[in-house]
Amino acid sequence: MVRYVYDFTEGSRDQAGLLGGKGANLAEMTGLGLPVPPGFTVTTEACRAFLAAGELPQDLSRQVVLALRQLEKRTGRRLGQADDPLLLSVRSGARYSMPGMMDTILDVGLNDTTVHGLAKHSGRERFAWDSYRRLIQMYGSTVMGVDEGLFAEALARAEKVRGTTGGQQLGTRDPGELVAEFKAIVRKATGTDFPQDPDEQLEQSVLAVFRSWNGERARVYRRRERIPDDLGTAVNIQAMVYGNLGPDSGTGVAFTRDPATGRAGVYGDYLPDAQGEDVVAGIRNTVPLQDLRDIDSLSYERLLAHMELLEEHYRDLCDVEFTIERGRLWMLQTRIGKRTAQAAFRIAAELVDEGRITWDEALLRVGGTQLTQLMFPRFDQRASGRPLAHGIPASPGAAVGQVVFDSAEAVRRATAGERVVLVREETTPDDLPGMIAAQAVLTSRGGKTSHAAVVARGMGKVCVCGADDVRIDLTRRRFTTGAGQEVAEGCVVSVDGTAGTVHLGALPLVDSPVMRYLETGERSAGPAEAVERVLQQADAVARLEVRANADTPEDAARARRFGARGIGLCRTEHMFLGGRRRLVEDMILARTDSERQCALDALLPLQRADFVGILTAMDGLPVTIRLLDPPLHEFLPDRTELAVRIASAKAAGRVPDDREVRLLEAVERIREQNPMLGLRGVRLALTVPGLTAMQVRALGEAVVARVRAGGDPRAEIMVPLVGTQEELRVVREQVETTLSEVFTAAKCTVQCPVGTMIELPRAALTAAGIARYADFFSFGTNDLTQTTWGFSRDDAEASFFAPYFDQGILRASPFEKLDEDGVGRLIRTAVAEGRAARPGIKIGVCGEHGGDPDSIHFFHATGLDYVSCSPFRVPGARLEAARAALPSAGREGHSTA
Ligand code: ADP
Ligand code: MG
Ligand code: MG
Repeated sequence: MVRYVYDFTEGSRDQAGLLGGKGANLAEMTGLGLPVPPGFTVTTEACRAFLAAGELPQDLSRQVVLALRQLEKRTGRRLGQADDPLLLSVRSGARYSMPGMMDTILDVGLNDTTVHGLAKHSGRERFAWDSYRRLIQMYGSTVMGVDEGLFAEALARAEKVRGTTGGQQLGTRDPGELVAEFKAIVRKATGTDFPQDPDEQLEQSVLAVFRSWNGERARVYRRRERIPDDLGTAVNIQAMVYGNLGPDSGTGVAFTRDPATGRAGVYGDYLPDAQGEDVVAGIRNTVPLQDLRDIDSLSYERLLAHMELLEEHYRDLCDVEFTIERGRLWMLQTRIGKRTAQAAFRIAAELVDEGRITWDEALLRVGGTQLTQLMFPRFDQRASGRPLAHGIPASPGAAVGQVVFDSAEAVRRATAGERVVLVREETTPDDLPGMIAAQAVLTSRGGKTSHAAVVARGMGKVCVCGADDVRIDLTRRRFTTGAGQEVAEGCVVSVDGTAGTVHLGALPLVDSPVMRYLETGERSAGPAEAVERVLQQADAVARLEVRANADTPEDAARARRFGARGIGLCRTEHMFLGGRRRLVEDMILARTDSERQCALDALLPLQRADFVGILTAMDGLPVTIRLLDPPLHEFLPDRTELAVRIASAKAAGRVPDDREVRLLEAVERIREQNPMLGLRGVRLALTVPGLTAMQVRALGEAVVARVRAGGDPRAEIMVPLVGTQEELRVVREQVETTLSEVFTAAKCTVQCPVGTMIELPRAALTAAGIARYADFFSFGTNDLTQTTWGFSRDDAEASFFAPYFDQGILRASPFEKLDEDGVGRLIRTAVAEGRAARPGIKIGVCGEHGGDPDSIHFFHATGLDYVSCSPFRVPGARLEAARAALPSAGREGHSTA
């Protein structure tokens, strides 16, 4: 018999896979002796069984009833008991935190009879009816599928009549009036009555939570966060506690440190006389947690003690949900809290300082993607002037975009290539697509723990919330500020998530302090200092070396400042563009050897000067120079343009330009059906006479020049697109001949390793043979991905990737995250064969995958020597290289709960 139900007294935090994060942590808190309302968890396994079979697994109902009987015994109340009913919350909770993405139903167990019992027992009639009203609303929308808007409208009408706001309990005259109205809404929308049987309510609520795993919102969220679709959710069934029993009750959320900046010291929001959902929804404005000290100092002190215990126990920033019922504090949830990138670095470093964690642990708590985020610019404070509006700085950073007022408009404009700022009173999970599309989110209600704030932080999106001087007029599609200024949809605003301000127009940006530190080594307190310390530790731990892809001396110098240990890919094609294009055209148009040599001779000094610059910038570190790779047509003018110019000259009775005629002929001649698979890479070296000799001579002479200048040039020559060892054998001979000519003439000999890219499946599969002629391998993972899958990147991304993602065929683009099963297998094969044939052969990767955190972990595990990526990603790659070397490197950005 499979066991599907665990009491909170049985589980622990290690069981998040089975109990979900929320359930595991509720059990952990229970075990720590914290005041958690009793309850039990239905496992994710039950959910998976239900989703697979379409019905509840056998024996589940029996197990739930057994657990319920226990719970009734412990609380001394029964579900459906007329005079003093046990009420339940039915809460979703998956392995990874998905805030607000799935459903929770509160106050299960109320009906026309028990509502009177609750009223009598609590001494509060309004409260009882309001709870019943909430149950019908939550149950009606999530279980019975009634449009949430119908309830919201009815509620708004009733509030208007009575002059109350924000879901506060409604007037006493006829407390059942709204319940009757809500029941009528349910009946009208579904043709059935709201169920009076508490057992049925419970069973249907569990089913609804299971189903919500596959709801639209949850699916969108998972895709974005790369959470697998097949985990399922657990369901937590728990005795209700009531924060809405008057001024001595309330509810709140709190963090053991500031999740926006990382600053130590508790931080949170409190809402007196309210149920938990009211805080997260941002319906009423909360008060700072510190105010609780004056309202209920005993509960405040207890809460602080519990939070201290949790942080000590989890050894990390925790967030909690709590409720105070008539002066009694209850803990409803905890988890390792989400935080901004800036906070993550600061907290990691400070936890080390406080002796709570080791540096190795600290490295596992920050990630390369977060580090890259911190390198983005911020607004120039001096230029900011008077803001349009102030709010709570909920998620830092700087963003500029057009104001839009709903999710659909945000998506529409973003798809059209605009940058947008989503402005809402408050957000709900339905706004998720708009939040993803937007550069920033601005809300007029809610605190740092509102839906907008929590979700934006998770996404690394700029967010200012609770800007209550912003009044939104949805019908006229504009908002008005406290000072009376009107801002219409489409207006450009700047949102400063660090300061919590909104400004009209596009403000100028300044570098981030982290970027300044990386660029100049200049230290400053705050995030830059934490990043510096983390990177120092990372370099000591990492085994993989990080190089940069850089084609110019400027890029090379910057990469070096960012900590690159050399250049893994220097593309020479950029040296053939601009004003030099004409020389390349001459080379292609040449009719005789001497014409061609003439063009090559003109290119040689230019190329040599480029190499000198790069070798100078990377003095003492390896610089891998790749021979010319792209098909030659890329250096010629566009075929249609040429044809049109020639045709119009003819039409106007002029003689067409002779060079253009010859260029068009050349374009026609070298035109290919499929240039990606055509005359490029090593095939150019083998078919365009003199090209390779010119490039190698330029490099050899640059090396000699650097040695003469007292430098330490470490050039490596890399041959692209090799498919058979024979290609490499022939080219290598050419290279060695040229180099020895140059070095002999200069009476100066320098080692220049010659290696190859592995970027065709055949190369990977015959790596043993290729290694005979290669001093090193470098995986060109972009081409290797294209040729392994048989599609071209640009075409695939433009045409069929979107439907592939929609249908779940692809989870991530194989051009961003290395396809470990396919491309990765080729890489493993090539590494094994290459190393067997030539022990100690240096092996790296130079595709952009070299900067992708997940892929870096794969490259480390595969035993590569280095990764190479664009300079901007080098710091993040250094950090990931270290994380990969540590045992149990977790998935970045996923807190459990
Ligand atoms: P989410 O994952 O969206 O935070 P939760 O399951 O935590 O959903 O519940 C939603 C709200 O209901 C929270 O604010 C929580 O505090 C409140 N809540 C959950 N269980 C109880 C309970 N047993 N008593 C009172 N409030 C509860
Ligand atoms: Mg929920
Ligand atoms: Mg919660």
